[in-house]
Amino acid sequence: MKALQYRSAGTAPEIVEIPRPVPGPGQVLLRVLAAGVCHSDFVVMGAPADQLSFPLPLTLGHEGVGTVAETGPGVHTVDVGDLVAVYGPWGCGACAKCAVGKENYCLRAGELGIHPPGLGAPGAIAEYMIVDDARHLVPIDDLDPVQAVPLTDAGLTPYHAIKHSLPKLIPGSTAVVIGAGGLGHVAIQLLRHLSPARVIALDVSAEKRALAKEVGAHHAIESDGAAAATIRELTAGRMAEAVFDFVGAPPTVAIAAACAAVEADVTIVGIGGGTLPVGFGVLPYEVSVSAPYWGSRAELIEVFDLARSGAISVHTETYALEQAPQAYERLHDGKVRGRAVILP
Ligand code: NAD
Ligand code: ZN
Ligand code: ZN
Repeated sequence: MKALQYRSAGTAPEIVEIPRPVPGPGQVLLRVLAAGVCHSDFVVMGAPADQLSFPLPLTLGHEGVGTVAETGPGVHTVDVGDLVAVYGPWGCGACAKCAVGKENYCLRAGELGIHPPGLGAPGAIAEYMIVDDARHLVPIDDLDPVQAVPLTDAGLTPYHAIKHSLPKLIPGSTAVVIGAGGLGHVAIQLLRHLSPARVIALDVSAEKRALAKEVGAHHAIESDGAAAATIRELTAGRMAEAVFDFVGAPPTVAIAAACAAVEADVTIVGIGGGTLPVGFGVLPYEVSVSAPYWGSRAELIEVFDLARSGAISVHTETYALEQAPQAYERLHDGKVRGRAVILP
């Protein structure tokens, strides 16, 4: 079968021919219909080989939707032909976090060497993929696979982050979204649907600011040194009760801190190497800073329900498997509008 692999440190991913895998006990083989391309893959591909906790080559893709092609011995909860999405942050399934569906915060994944598909285990940008356990599969029912696939990360990750801050997003409040890309453009829609907050989006790209407005941001402003002053003006000095940084680089983390209101939540989702000093008098009183990772399986089911209700819809660009390297190039260059989805 064909797969997109990151083969050696520092090289671009390439399409290769590899054997079609066979599901072992408890595993499920999916015929992949759609796979999303996330900016986090550049974090993996930017790391020196000795800093990776898994061997190369790696089949990329941690957003996947497909049909069950074959089940391994002992699998009884899914059938061949079922249309499913892959819940990506795999855990041990048994610890206290996994027990409540928060496999993203599994207490034993590191120790047991468990990796998400495409981030250590073979991923979704391939004709077939192995899913380690049937519990990682969530039926998408009548959702379109191309729409559903980005929801497994570009939908789930902002949903988890935003849900945490909803009590602060009361009438009259403001939410700031930094980076209106794959995750950010879904975040704006989630905020508009789930809260009465005014939404201010920031991006360095005029096209992304236009997308932010199109998906519901009340304001979309340039992400630069003047952004915090503009937000001060727009909020009559009150600033933002919740700030979601989907870039996480040093300049955006600084903006995130500068536009936080008293008692605000500052949530750093982007993996851009930015850090934030916290201490008395450094930030407004009682600001909470967090850096969440992905979301729970229950939250993914909620995100699918939101999509079914029409509350959120992902802007996508689709590519054949052979064109996957070009999708990565476009994402790297900041040219993808919404999410790039590969159709293997
Ligand atoms: P993306 O490339 O689709 O979007 C990034 C957006 O940020 C683009 O619109 C780009 O124009 C904009 N941007 C770049 N620099 C900016 C700046 N200085 N100010 C404002 N906007 C700027 O990326 P994505 O796939 O949406 O991922 C976003 C980030 O979230 C990445 O860092 C990714 O690694 C991270 N991520 C984290 C998690 C998690 O669980 N914490 C999950 C998924 C992705
Ligand atoms: Zn991701
Ligand atoms: Zn666990």
